[in-house]
Amino acid sequence: MPRNGAITFGDLVGKLDLLEVACAKCGRKGRYAVARLIEQRGSDGKIVDLLSELRSDCPKHLAGDMGDMCAARCPELLRVM
Ligand SMILES: [Zn+2]
Repeated sequence: MPRNGAITFGDLVGKLDLLEVACAKCGRKGRYAVARLIEQRGSDGKIVDLLSELRSDCPKHLAGDMGDMCAARCPELLRVM
């Protein structure tokens, strides 16, 4: 059972090699190597923390468009968790 809202990078090992992050609002899309995320943040680093960092430097967010906040998320998580 995944901990509610606190899936860690370690949880992805064996399930995903690349973690896809996409934002439907600004159209940004990226892939992060899970091994590299663990190297940088540790296997107990939380995906929600990565997402909130990404949201905070989203073009939408930087433009000060608070009524249309960034929606970066990991579409593949629902499939693998
Ligand atoms: Zn965005």
